[in-house]
Amino acid sequence: RPDNAEIRRRIRTIPDFPKPGIMFRDITTLLLDAEGLRLTIQGMAAQVDGPVDLVAGIEARGFLFGAALAMELGTGVLLIRKDGKLPGATIAEDYALEYGTDRIAIHADACAPGARVLLVDDLIATGGTARAAVRLLRKAGAVVTQAAFVVDLPELGGADALRGDGIHVSTLVA
Ligand code: 5GP
Repeated sequence: RPDNAEIRRRIRTIPDFPKPGIMFRDITTLLLDAEGLRLTIQGMAAQVDGPVDLVAGIEARGFLFGAALAMELGTGVLLIRKDGKLPGATIAEDYALEYGTDRIAIHADACAPGARVLLVDDLIATGGTARAAVRLLRKAGAVVTQAAFVVDLPELGGADALRGDGIHVSTLVA
């Protein structure tokens, strides 16, 4: 990973959000900054590994980085949403949270079988969300071999788990 100090210093850490003990990485300050946004998207694009047909962004912050990266790569963007938000026929995937489960969905016809899809989100922590997204995209027939995140929390092991699923993982700051 290159030295991304110019990106790192534009991300702030907010203690005790959304609950006590959590140090939340707030990327809204990065998005507010034109240079920070430009460096981030260019950095993500530089780490793309081979041809991409479609970028898939995870609700909600993954939509922003995903759409900007898709513009840079010349692809469209596929929305991975919380279940119940998409109007057409969907396929869904469940994943475990600390307490309970959550469900993400995509439109069943969102990607052609064999499409090479790059998964994008703002941050990977335990990897639960991203791994469910990979299962979902693969269920839809996509070929998912790479995922890009702005922030990695390596101590939570998500990036390594995703690599274990056969995904080339790129991140900009830890
Ligand atoms: P995971 O499923 O890897 O445990 O958590 C990653 C998901 O939760 C991502 O969709 C990410 O947006 C969100 N998330 C978890 N912790 C943080 C955080 O500290 N900052 C931000 N911006 N998102 C977080």
